[in-house]
Amino acid sequence: MNTITRALRSRLFITGEIVENEHIAPRMRRIRIGGEAVAGLAWTPGQHVRVLVHGPLTLRTYSVWHHDPAWECLDLIGYDHGADSPGAAWVRTARPGQEVSFTKPEGRFTLRQGAPYHLFAGEETAAVAFGPMLRAVPATEPVYGAVEANEPGGHLDLQGDLVKVCRDGAPAANSAALVKAVSALDLPDEPGVAYLAGEARTIQMIRAHLVDERGWSRRDVITKPFWTPGRKGLD
Ligand SMILES: Cc1cc2nc3c(=O)[nH]c(=O)nc-3n(C[C@H](O)[C@H](O)[C@H](O)COP(=O)(O)OP(=O)(O)OC[C@H]3O[C@@H](n4cnc5c(N)ncnc54)[C@H](O)[C@@H]3O)c2cc1C
Repeated sequence: MNTITRALRSRLFITGEIVENEHIAPRMRRIRIGGEAVAGLAWTPGQHVRVLVHGPLTLRTYSVWHHDPAWECLDLIGYDHGADSPGAAWVRTARPGQEVSFTKPEGRFTLRQGAPYHLFAGEETAAVAFGPMLRAVPATEPVYGAVEANEPGGHLDLQGDLVKVCRDGAPAANSAALVKAVSALDLPDEPGVAYLAGEARTIQMIRAHLVDERGWSRRDVITKPFWTPGRKGLD
């Protein structure tokens, strides 16, 4: 990398070092990034970073699972959807000792203060954002929700009593299984605040269910599409 490229990169990105790449579920890997620059980051649960996964231009987005300023570490969890695309390939091949550049944590997919209750729904990629959000929900505020994974061992360890759904090899896009699980939730009569993330079309279906069938207002349904078939690097 020449001096100009290095200077430009240091203005736009934080640079750290990969410390671990641990296989934590059949298709998920936790990538720990360490370094002095990581300690100074400001982060709100639900926010993401954009990682330079290939060359100087290819960015892919990952939610922050955990940030520990004292230990100078930032954990991301990547879902390996099996293709040879830049993000999935980086998740599989990132190795300790490699330098990694990424943007500061950003995004508005964060908890709404003072909600009567919180409802979460999404698949594996969404569960990464939900993990820290669930840990941040005040103990007095109830939590509901459903999370989907391809197989029983594919679920992340999340706080709260969310319903776990397995799609058993069915596509995660347009997931009828997840919509059915949300429809079956025994929710309070009054709306709460919903956080829907992951595959874009499934999000639309769940939002339609909440708005059309349960009478929720759209402003109480916070959505963040992470990916959808045929699109590259959403966000
Ligand atoms: C705000 C935000 C937060 C995100 N957080 C996370 C996270 O914490 N962990 C994580 O793993 N992902 C997360 N994602 C999704 C991740 O950024 C995308 O899946 C990423 O685009 C994958 O990069 P890729 O190069 O492998 O595939 P791309 O080149 O972007 O896409 C190529 C094709 O691969 C397929 N594809 C992409 N993602 C998936 C998938 N998950 N399942 C099945 N097929 C897929 C689609 O058909 C897509 O058209 C997040 C996205 C956003 C916008």
